[in-house]
Parts: sequence; structure tokens; C-alpha cells
Amino acid sequence: MERVDVAIVGGGPAGSSAAHAAASDGADALVLEKGVPRADRDGLGPDSTDAAGILDYWVDIMGIHPDEFDDGVIQRELDRAEFRGPSASATLNNTGIDSSYDAFGYTFHRARFDDWLRDRAEAAGAEYRVGASVRGVDTDLETEPGGSTPRHTVRLAGDDPIGADFIVLADGPQRTVTNRVLDEYLPAGDGGSDRLSPPEANHIAYQEYRRVPPEVYEEVDGAIVFWWGVIPGDTAYPWIFPNADGVCRIGLTMPIGMDIDAFDADAYELLSADDESIPSGSTYIRRLLEWQYGDEYDVEEAFPVVEDAGKRDGTETYPISSTRPIDSPTRAGIAVVGGAMGTTSAFHEGGDHVAVRTGAIAGELAAAGDLAAYNRRWKESIGDEIVRNITMADMVGDYEPADWDRIIGAADAMLAAQTDGGLLAQPYRSGWESLKLLLGYKWNKRYTKREYVTIAADEYVY
Ligand SMILES: Cc1cc2nc3c(=O)[nH]c(=O)nc-3n(C[C@H](O)[C@H](O)[C@H](O)COP(=O)(O)OP(=O)(O)OC[C@H]3O[C@@H](n4cnc5c(N)ncnc54)[C@H](O)[C@@H]3O)c2cc1C
Repeated sequence: MERVDVAIVGGGPAGSSAAHAAASDGADALVLEKGVPRADRDGLGPDSTDAAGILDYWVDIMGIHPDEFDDGVIQRELDRAEFRGPSASATLNNTGIDSSYDAFGYTFHRARFDDWLRDRAEAAGAEYRVGASVRGVDTDLETEPGGSTPRHTVRLAGDDPIGADFIVLADGPQRTVTNRVLDEYLPAGDGGSDRLSPPEANHIAYQEYRRVPPEVYEEVDGAIVFWWGVIPGDTAYPWIFPNADGVCRIGLTMPIGMDIDAFDADAYELLSADDESIPSGSTYIRRLLEWQYGDEYDVEEAFPVVEDAGKRDGTETYPISSTRPIDSPTRAGIAVVGGAMGTTSAFHEGGDHVAVRTGAIAGELAAAGDLAAYNRRWKESIGDEIVRNITMADMVGDYEPADWDRIIGAADAMLAAQTDGGLLAQPYRSGWESLKLLLGYKWNKRYTKREYVTIAADEYVY
């Protein structure tokens, strides 16, 4: 049987970063990526759907400065984020969080970013195998790493199995392999891995690549623009992210399985009283563009979909994991990283930075021959970011459109009164709304610090 030190399931940002770290430290690292076709990549590759924006302080979490990338990875440098409510708006020029990167952030080409991460892993000596679809992992807990028989056997669709001392699960938020592997170590009576995918916590993301009129591009260039309180659902919002050459990614995220009757159609700008179900992503995008630009433009003509961009026909649909992160069953020699461990935040889409970082930690520890420190190490590295995301998402979870206008209006007033602060950082300095926001934030912060892990390390049974 083919045998490696570290087998990595999934070749997205988390898996490639695990392979890079493991190979850099001398391990035999093999990435198994099932491979999906995309219009913006020749041949099969990882599933690279992404709005692809990085904020300044994420650069440090990721540990890769954008200067390191190949040409064509970076699309636009950002100088602000615009938060728009149904009628209020606020512009944030600074996240308020210390970072080594000077700009507000950047947008990037996700397929080229993934390919760059793959090249980096291969340059370090890792092998990246595309078209390798993992079916499952069998583990013999009696076997020590380095023993004559492998501790783990990775089963592949249509290929011979592969033996490995360590497994890094980086199969993204669908967790098709991760869930099955974790069920081996979770008591079924507690719901097993079903706890990772409760319907109310699962989000769908949809986006379109559209060429926009030059005046509109000029208006949004340098900005990531989010609309809050215009579509129903917890953490549901559309956005525009500028790409290069007059193209923008226009997308949205929303929970799966909502009932239209639970919402007042008149309260949401992008709902219509005639809707019999929650509109599709494409309907929402069309309504957003009509709402924002329909007075001046014939939207379908002036904002054409770029058919050869993105995944297929200029559009992409993808599940987003909005559960809280999980610890890994490290005593079994298994680390779960990136989207598979629940680090992606549907609240702000962010996940590449934490995927790269958790992958790198797992790869480094696997190469050193002991994953025991993984659950501590990932919390030290990304715990603050996770708490920040969960807290903010919790705070605004039941906001109605009017709440968004109120809070964005208050934020606008606060930002106008500040010279250097950011919406993501404390303190808010003035006003009743800011005090309320601050108190809510602190209370939630204490709460989530204690409970932000969906599956804790001590719940695994070996
Ligand atoms: C629409 C959208 C917008 C986003 N916007 C941003 C953003 O602006 N900024 C940001 O930082 N993050 C963003 N994210 C989140 C970001 O894309 C994820 O956090 C990131 O992709 C997670 O990386 P990963 O490597 O953990 O998982 P993934 O990128 O999902 O990679 C998992 C890989 O595993 C492979 N795989 C799955 N099952 C198997 C199997 N059985 N065998 C072999 N291979 C398998 C898949 O093909 C895939 O390539 C966005 C996500 C979406 C969907």
C-alpha cells in the first residue's frame, strides 16, 4: 500500500497550507483533492468559490503578505467597507485592529490564489493529487505512528487505498468525509456529527460576476459594499466586491430552508408581496441591481454576467458553514481544519485566513509527530477572531430592517466623531446606541468565550 506521513483530504486553502507546513518540516505530505471543473481554471482543481476579500488584520492571521502572490492573484486594493441599511449607510475606513498591512484590505482571484497555495506546497515537497475523491478513513487506534502498518487507511473512489500516520481533514464546509470520520469518536446519543449541520445554521452563498458600467465601478472601486436588513434571515445580506477590469462579484448569503410566511414582505426591500417562497439568489441579485441602479440603467443590458468567469456561466453557488468551530480528535491522529472545522463566518464571509492558519498549524504538528497541541494552538491563533465573528453574528441575529437602519445610522455618527477607530474594534465613544452596542458586545464576548466550540475535545471517545 502507498504510504505517507500525512494524508490531507481536500486541496483548498486549508489543505494546501497543511501540506506546505508539513512538507516544509520534512514530512511526506499528500493532498487528495477530488477536483471540480471551473470556467476560470484549466483542468480540474479545488472548489474555489469565494467573494475573495481579505481585511488588513486577516493578512497577519493568514501569515502570507499579498506581495508574495503571483501576478494576477490580487484584483483590487481596498480602502473601505460600506455598510448600507434599508436607508442609512456608514463607511468604515479602518478595521481598528492592528495589522502589518497598510491598506484596508484587498480582493483577489480565488482560483489563482488556490493555485498559488498549491504551487507553494509542491515547491516545499508536498504532492498534490487531483481527481482523488476520498470515500472514508479507517483508523486503527492500536497502531502508533511510524509502525509497520499504517494507523490510517484512506479509501478512495476508484483508486488503491493509501496509508498514513496522520490525517488532516480539509474537505470544506460540506464535511462529507469529516462527518463520517468524527462519528467514529462521538457518542451517537448526543447527535454525533449531526450537531455540525443543524438546518437553521446552514447558509447558502450565491454570486454572479457582472461587468458594471464605468461610473458604477468608479463608485464601488476600493470598497466592499454590504446591504443589511434588505433580505430576511439571520445573517442574510447581499454584497458587491470589486474585481479587476470593471467586473464585480455581486452575491449574497442567506440561511437555507426559510419560510416566506414568517416574514413581513413589506419590511424587506428585496422581497415582493407576490413572493410565494424565499426568492432565489439570482432573483435577489436582479432586484438589488434594479433597486440601486434601475432608475439610471437597463440592468440586464448595462450589468452583463461575465459568462467565462467563476465556476460556471459567471455564477457560483456554495454552502457556507455557519456553525461554531469544533475541536479535533487529536488522540486519533486526526486534525480538522478550515471550513470543515467550522471556521468560516457567514457573518462576514471570511474564512480563507483562518483556513490557511489552522491548516498550517495542523501540518506543522503532524510533521513533528504529535497533534496533541492542535486544539490549544488553533484557539491561541484564531480564537479572538472566532469570538469576534460569533459575537457580532449573535448580536444582530434577530435584527429587523429598522434595527439595521438605527444601528448603521448610529455607527455612522460614531465614525464621524472618531478619527481612527473602526466598527470592528472597541471602543465606541459616544451616544446611547453605542453604549448599548458596547454592553451587548461585552456580555456576548464573555458568553461565547466559554462556549464557542460546538464539539469540545473531551467529548471524543476513543
Ligand atoms: C460565496 C462565498 C464567499 C466567500 N467570501 C470570502 C471572502 O471574501 N473572504 C474569505 O476569507 N473567505 C470567504 N469565503 C470563505 C472561504 O471560501 C472559505 O473559508 C475557504 O474556502 C475555506 O477553505 P477550506 O480549504 O477549508 O475549504 P474549501 O475551500 O471548501 O476546500 C475544500 C476542498 O475539499 C475538496 N473535497 C471535498 N470533499 C472531498 C473528498 N471527499 N475528497 C477529496 N477532496 C474533497 C473540495 O473539492 C474542495 O476543493 C467565502 C465563501 C463563499 C462560498
